[in-house]
Amino acid sequence: MVSFKQVHIPDGDLIASDGGVLKVGDHPVVGVLRGDGIGIDITPVMQKVVDAAVEKTSGGRRQIRWCPIYAGLEALQRYGGTDVLPQEAVDAIAHVKVAIKGPFTTPIGEETHVCLHCAHQQMHDGACDACKKTDGVAPRFRSINVGLRQRLDLYACVRPIRYFDGVPCPNKWADRVNFVIFRENTEDVYAGHDFERGSDVALAIIDLVKKMTGRDIRPDSGIGVKPISETGSKRLVRKACQWAVDQNLPSVTLVHKGNIMKFTEGSFARWGYEVATREFGDRFVTEKALWDQFGGKMPAGKILIKDRIADSIFQQIQTRPDEYSVLALPNLNGDYLSDAAIALVGGLGLGPGANIGTDVAVFEATHGTAPKYAGQDKVNPGSIILSAVMMLNHMGWNEAAERITAGVAAAIRDGHVTYDLARQMKSEGRTDVTEVSCSGFGNAVIDRM
Ligand code: NAD
Repeated sequence: MVSFKQVHIPDGDLIASDGGVLKVGDHPVVGVLRGDGIGIDITPVMQKVVDAAVEKTSGGRRQIRWCPIYAGLEALQRYGGTDVLPQEAVDAIAHVKVAIKGPFTTPIGEETHVCLHCAHQQMHDGACDACKKTDGVAPRFRSINVGLRQRLDLYACVRPIRYFDGVPCPNKWADRVNFVIFRENTEDVYAGHDFERGSDVALAIIDLVKKMTGRDIRPDSGIGVKPISETGSKRLVRKACQWAVDQNLPSVTLVHKGNIMKFTEGSFARWGYEVATREFGDRFVTEKALWDQFGGKMPAGKILIKDRIADSIFQQIQTRPDEYSVLALPNLNGDYLSDAAIALVGGLGLGPGANIGTDVAVFEATHGTAPKYAGQDKVNPGSIILSAVMMLNHMGWNEAAERITAGVAAAIRDGHVTYDLARQMKSEGRTDVTEVSCSGFGNAVIDRM
């Protein structure tokens, strides 16, 4: 029996994972990290919506047993000290396997300290100069989100992109956008092998390249190393393919810049094809086979595996969005594409997300802590609610997930929305908008699911 100091594992069924295939009982224990700032508002609303959907779709047979896990401000308050991501939090997430989190403060400036209540940064500990609170100032630390990804090896960053009718958006084909982006989370530029011009490492690499290949690199260059491995690429594409299989989606697209970088980006695509065509029986059909063997008509029950050059995909998702359902990308391309894609459906407000590893998955609100609104029951809980939809899909509770999505769609369509969407909808001329609070939006979703 595993025991923790502050985390209490509630009675219920621990989720088991056999190489990523989950076994989920009727009362699964699910971790919940409240988050800083507006985490206090959005996280409980999400829990209430999920509980209602599970209750409705199972007739009371199923219930999530939430397990609070402490990071950020809550970690300082619970454990004392200054560690914002205690090992116990990481261990507890690994133990329960599935968790959902609110946003966490991340220091960005040069200051030595940051306040986890209001994100103010300053040069001393003790009380916060801005909000005056005395229990939230921590010494500078690395992002909790990055820490979780690295320490739990959550190698796939997953971002579903879809439009909700009624969301103000300049893109006239927004309603055709409905795809999921799988971005590699651990290598490529994220590996951080970046060396300053003139440093020993940069100069040694320039020298080595000259010696071994005869090629010249300007001596005043900064040098970045971009590793893309077979292991990292294959496990990412495997997740993307499995998602397409589980969710009955028609295609997986490998996005790369292999026309220029053959052995990193190009290999990513090649290894991706290997995974799709060798590890999933005969579920996947390549574009070549589609024409050679099936006369261009997709056979029933099959999934198309294709690839696109990274620059062209930015056009394709605008001009032919309905041709894409799952996209798998190395880290940097995935970073750019995720941001560009979310703009196609009206911006970040409602975008959900997850970071998924082999056995462990953490679902998350994708916006920040918006500290000026914390504790006011005002902000939009849509991102974390839709992240919970992903979590329910991941657990195989698709019916509850669909109910919530339907509830969110109906609440927006009816104009029962928080201030952010209300303001935009009114400015577009809608006259039937009812501005609701954060918890009010949760209730509007529950009433409509
Ligand atoms: P932010 O996302 O907190 O705020 C940007 C703007 O969006 C603000 O105007 C804010 O009021 C608004 N906003 C954000 N979420 C909203 C919601 N749910 N409903 C309505 N409006 C919302 O970004 P920021 O101000 O740059 O960052 C604040 C803090 O959050 C920083 O410490 C930053 O590092 C951190 N952050 C965390 C995450 C994360 O944990 N995933 C992501 C981004 C930023």
